[in-house]
Amino acid sequence: MEQRSVQTSKRKSNGGVRASHQPPQQIEVGYLEVKVETDADSVARSVYNTGSSVFGTYDERTGTITLDVTVPLRVQQESLMHELLHAIIKQTGLQWEEEKEETVIRTLSPFILMMLRDNPDFVAWLSK
Ligand SMILES: [Zn+2]
Repeated sequence: MEQRSVQTSKRKSNGGVRASHQPPQQIEVGYLEVKVETDADSVARSVYNTGSSVFGTYDERTGTITLDVTVPLRVQQESLMHELLHAIIKQTGLQWEEEKEETVIRTLSPFILMMLRDNPDFVAWLSK
């Protein structure tokens, strides 16, 4: 509930509901500034290529996450967290097989997201 009031105040400061739903355009991940682009068509092409249902991609070469923002906000948030975890793992140098990396990320991502979402005081404390 506290989180809702925080979001409401953010909406006001951003000048509108739509603006607050846009993901950040850049996120610091370790030594990288990961760019976040929103292109549903690009993600859709990647979905077509992989044959699985994903709503985001991470391009390690360019340090760019591409997010499909035509899906519900909660799905976007989960997808962005998922892709950020890929960006983190690539930086660690862990040489996991793709399937193992996917399993670890799919397992951890929703819990990390829920923990951050359910504990706004913790998130505020972390950023001090
Ligand atoms: Zn993935």
